[in-house]
Amino acid sequence: MATRPSEKSSGDPMVVFSNSYARLPQHFFARVQPAPAPKPRLIAFNDALAAELGFDRRGLGPDELAAVLSGNVTPPGAEPIAMAYAGHQFGNFVPQLGDGRAILLGEVLDRRGDRRDVQLKGAGRTPFSRRGDGRAALGPVLREYLVSEAMHALGVPTTRALAAVTTGEPVYRDRSLPGAVLTRVAASHIRVGTFQYFAARGDDEALKRLADYVIDRHYPEIRDADRPYLALLEAVADRQARLIARWMHIGFIHGVMNTDNTALSGETIDFGPCAFMDAFDPATSFSAIDEYGRYAYANQPAIAQWNIARFAETLLPLLDPNPERAVERANEAITAFATRYRGHWLAGMREKIGLSGEGDADLDLVRGLLQAMHDNGADFTLTFRRLCAAAADPDADARARVLFADPQAYDRWAGLWRARFAADGQRPDARTAAMRAVNPAVIPRNHRVERALAAAIDEGDLSPFTELMQVLSQPYEDRPEFADYAKPPETSERVYRTFCGT
Ligand code: AMP
Ligand code: MG
Repeated sequence: MATRPSEKSSGDPMVVFSNSYARLPQHFFARVQPAPAPKPRLIAFNDALAAELGFDRRGLGPDELAAVLSGNVTPPGAEPIAMAYAGHQFGNFVPQLGDGRAILLGEVLDRRGDRRDVQLKGAGRTPFSRRGDGRAALGPVLREYLVSEAMHALGVPTTRALAAVTTGEPVYRDRSLPGAVLTRVAASHIRVGTFQYFAARGDDEALKRLADYVIDRHYPEIRDADRPYLALLEAVADRQARLIARWMHIGFIHGVMNTDNTALSGETIDFGPCAFMDAFDPATSFSAIDEYGRYAYANQPAIAQWNIARFAETLLPLLDPNPERAVERANEAITAFATRYRGHWLAGMREKIGLSGEGDADLDLVRGLLQAMHDNGADFTLTFRRLCAAAADPDADARARVLFADPQAYDRWAGLWRARFAADGQRPDARTAAMRAVNPAVIPRNHRVERALAAAIDEGDLSPFTELMQVLSQPYEDRPEFADYAKPPETSERVYRTFCGT
């Protein structure tokens, strides 16, 4: 059982909790206590995020901090719970999943007044753990830390990482590994699977309660809509459409787009075997558990729509008293997802190639580039980054065309691209600057991520992790001292498979 810490001398709590999910009916969650960690050690702490949350670490040494962030000490005001949820995993419905290795400490109102969940991932067993140990290994904890913070720096909605601690206790996966706990911060941890949990039980009252809660917390602007639950479905679909478009724009592959990993807030959540693409190939899939490529890069929009359809199903009893009418309304929203997605995707792709206005042939122009990249194994991130300079100066073509196995494929496309600029009023230097703000110079390349995790796990050396974090904190800047990090892997460095390692 965790103990309460003594109040700090000032008497001020280190963080002010304001919990609302724990006020919902009892069957929404289970009250739990984190399991003790024998020797917690703080290995990463996000000071900027802590400041956003009003998290005051003054007077707390690293050991005291590690005690709280491992779950050994429950801070005043925290009400640890494990949330109930269900979900479709790789298309198969599981009526009960739930937080099996994550414990929600509580909610904090951040500096902007936004409510944020503070969760410990890997803090021990809960009633939802099934056969799992409730623990997390250091590798996945550091991967989530790195990639979620990189996504944030890239401007993609995402859960955040506040801290990582090692527990001093091994966890057993395919081998013995250091155990660790990630402190995750999210707009909330409510998932499509949370709605599915109640829908599967025919608990319409709970569904309504949850829907009202989500509207209040994430979509207050629709509170007074004529049909608030339909408006909720549309709003959630739109945020997913925007989110997946952002992933596609930066070559991100989530890897496990199950409905329990689809957040109602529209944030990227649950970084398992996620990875970024190097050479552009729409069929790219890294996850070792995704044998058939269900969650491959190019499938992500269709899968998101499928997940929205599962969400819509749970809302049917709330959409219309007439069941047929409810299905019609749901179908309209599901169909609209595809249109919304295409709109968000094309708008972002136009920005990536430096167009400020809309032209009828833009879709063909974008597709032409992607086809040439695919045919010629061009690196996704580098191609777009090098286009930034080329947009203002044809002499810079040299650095872009070498990325294509047949450089003339680039030349042919670049001719069409430049012709399109005539109808686009931007000044060349403004175009280049706008492009540099959306086409990152660096992404968390898999070989770099794997190397940083291996150094931490095998040698206890955190310096590659720390340096990579620093590199990824300003992804849209060219920083000559980190030029190596922009490079794609050599053939021998390529990573073909990623593992959840949960
Ligand atoms: P995820 O891989 O995060 O999408 O998790 C899928 C489900 O498995 C969730 O219900 C998790 O809580 C559960 N789970 C994953 N790893 C563990 C673990 N080590 N112990 C207990 N439950 C786990
Ligand atoms: Mg999950």
